[in-house]
Amino acid sequence: MSDCLFCDIVSGDIPADVVRSDELTVAFRDVNPQAPVHVLVVPRRHIINASTVGDGEGGELAAMLVVAKAVADDEGIGGEDRGYRLVLNVGPDALNSVDHLHLHLLGGRAFDWPPG
Ligand code: AMP
Repeated sequence: MSDCLFCDIVSGDIPADVVRSDELTVAFRDVNPQAPVHVLVVPRRHIINASTVGDGEGGELAAMLVVAKAVADDEGIGGEDRGYRLVLNVGPDALNSVDHLHLHLLGGRAFDWPPG
């Protein structure tokens, strides 16, 4: 076990509902879903959040977007007639609660813009 919840999910020390997994990323369902589809895509490597991403993390970021699209397709919301929202929270004003980079994939319903 580490002191990072999502590192422990990546390693399998803490169970999660994993929907996709590859060399760079793991995608699993959020335990407190805010939409019919709510999946978190995380890099296997411990990156704190989007504000700490550097040039060396480009591979992970691209992989996260590709996985998000693949999950959206799996869930039936990847087509042009549907769509989804991708969110990266940074810091307390954004209610960022886990210090391991994670991309929220939200879909299966319509969202407001701007968000509440
Ligand atoms: P954020 O507010 O952007 O830091 O998002 C953290 C997300 O992690 C929240 O949506 C939580 O519901 C979710 N979460 C917390 N613990 C777990 C867990 N054990 N498995 C899956 N999702 C989790």
